[in-house]
Amino acid sequence: MSHEDCIFCKIINGAIPSAKVYEDDHVYAFLDISQVTKGHTLVIPKTHTKNIYETPPEVAKELFARVPKIAKAIKEVYKPIGMNLLNNNEAPAEQSVFHLHIHIIPRYGEGDGYQLGWTTHDDAYSSDDLQQIAKEINAGIK
Ligand code: 5GP
Ligand code: ZN
Repeated sequence: MSHEDCIFCKIINGAIPSAKVYEDDHVYAFLDISQVTKGHTLVIPKTHTKNIYETPPEVAKELFARVPKIAKAIKEVYKPIGMNLLNNNEAPAEQSVFHLHIHIIPRYGEGDGYQLGWTTHDDAYSSDDLQQIAKEINAGIK
């Protein structure tokens, strides 16, 4: 299923050129046009799905099943010292292309270009709070 106005669907069908890293029946992987670090790759399902909320388990399964081998290839070839996987969902969480994608970002050390702000609130939640939150989420799982 391809969406007419989706740039990633256009990349899959070749209407927009890309630097292809890997392709099979289920996924397409290509270099992000704005490389955070060398080898920054996007892995996308061939089935158009807006983001993680709309992703059927079968599409998620096939997508994530391919991520380790692509990540390992980047590791072998460029010898990064670490690697981050990132998936943004909805605009407030920095999603800018609305076709599900996993960023694979190899890391080369301080100043390599990757930055992710992260403030923890360790004092704000007691262990009872954590149990309660876990229960509430669990009750929402269908
Ligand atoms: P998001 O911000 O949605 O998590 O990530 C979308 C990514 O797609 C961005 O990092 C952006 O650089 C990349 N991108 C947007 N348009 C194109 C394009 O036409 N070609 C390629 N290769 N990457 C793109
Ligand atoms: Zn699409």
